[in-house]
Amino acid sequence: MKFADIIGQEDVKQRLRLAADQGRVPHAMLFTGIEGSGTLPLAIAFAQYLLCHHHIDGDSCGTCPSCLKFEKLAHPDLHFAFPIVRTSTSTVCDTLLPQFRECVLADPYISSTQWLDTISESKQGTIYANESDEILRKLMLKSFEGDLKILILWQPEKMHPTGANKLLKLIEEPPAGTILLLVSNDPEHVLGTIVSRTQRIHLPPVSVDSMSEMLRGRYPTLTEEEVRFASRLARGSVITAREIAETNESSRRYFDDFAFLMRTAWGIRYFKTQDKKAQALLQLRQFAETIGKTSRDNQQAFLSYAQRLLRENFIYNLQEQRLRYLASFEQEFSSKFSPYIHESNVLGIMQCFSDAQRDIAQNVQSTLVFCDLGLRLILLLKPE
Ligand SMILES: [Zn+2]
Repeated sequence: MKFADIIGQEDVKQRLRLAADQGRVPHAMLFTGIEGSGTLPLAIAFAQYLLCHHHIDGDSCGTCPSCLKFEKLAHPDLHFAFPIVRTSTSTVCDTLLPQFRECVLADPYISSTQWLDTISESKQGTIYANESDEILRKLMLKSFEGDLKILILWQPEKMHPTGANKLLKLIEEPPAGTILLLVSNDPEHVLGTIVSRTQRIHLPPVSVDSMSEMLRGRYPTLTEEEVRFASRLARGSVITAREIAETNESSRRYFDDFAFLMRTAWGIRYFKTQDKKAQALLQLRQFAETIGKTSRDNQQAFLSYAQRLLRENFIYNLQEQRLRYLASFEQEFSSKFSPYIHESNVLGIMQCFSDAQRDIAQNVQSTLVFCDLGLRLILLLKPE
């Protein structure tokens, strides 16, 4: 991971670069910032920079033997400690190191919750007391490549107090050539005696400009307006920005179908002439046939999307300002559609969609399911 891979944070990168280039790297540092600000990936990029021998343009080269090992997070002088869940056989991180590497390489902005979700059902992760013995043992060894030994300790706030106390001396006076990089999104819960022995590197929330640039590159289908919207709403967290963008992308796929279904069902009831009503009925049938030919996964995803948008419209109608995840095209539609979703029909309409989901899951013929859904909606869609 190079500095260039980290979103924004140019000032912090510059500070780290200078410290490294001038040989003034503190032996214990605490990287802090909100989740999604890039604390873990930046600590890794810094470690890579420290061990790379061929800096290019203020960044690690990405091609030297050391950088190539970093590409797999498998440099022998790079050690990790992170919260785990106790298994019957082990309470040390190394057991889960392959999984940890895989997760962080797949998404360096991984949140602590995502990590725990991948390793267990539990919501509580701990860095167990005996991990400290492991750390001490590893850092006492000579470095493999003759350079620095670096420990990245993710979430020191999850350290068992006994373990944390065992590390105090190490943090105060690490063996020669050892650098400890502690990474916390919750520094208030890190033991004060540890905090006071480290130099704090604080990452501010990612700037709107950097976030926009990331979103444009990663989600090319977003409009400029949506990019700005997601960047502002994310409040500096890459994790949140991506969530908003992804919701937006999947929404776009289903929105047109949803709007069409609702308009057609509405038309069958409210159009003035029999001709127009008959035409809408025919369109409803065609809609059911078209979506009925797509995969069942797609049908289920559409039905889930519809329920989400219905919920948001109900809330919209209640005039509550909790429209976090409505994209601009959804908002425009909702401003006219929401009066049709209210206390007396919201449950009934939601029921139609969840019945359809159940039927699709049970392999009922899809066209029939969607026809039935449309017909039920005709009776339910009406202003309060
Ligand atoms: Zn290199």
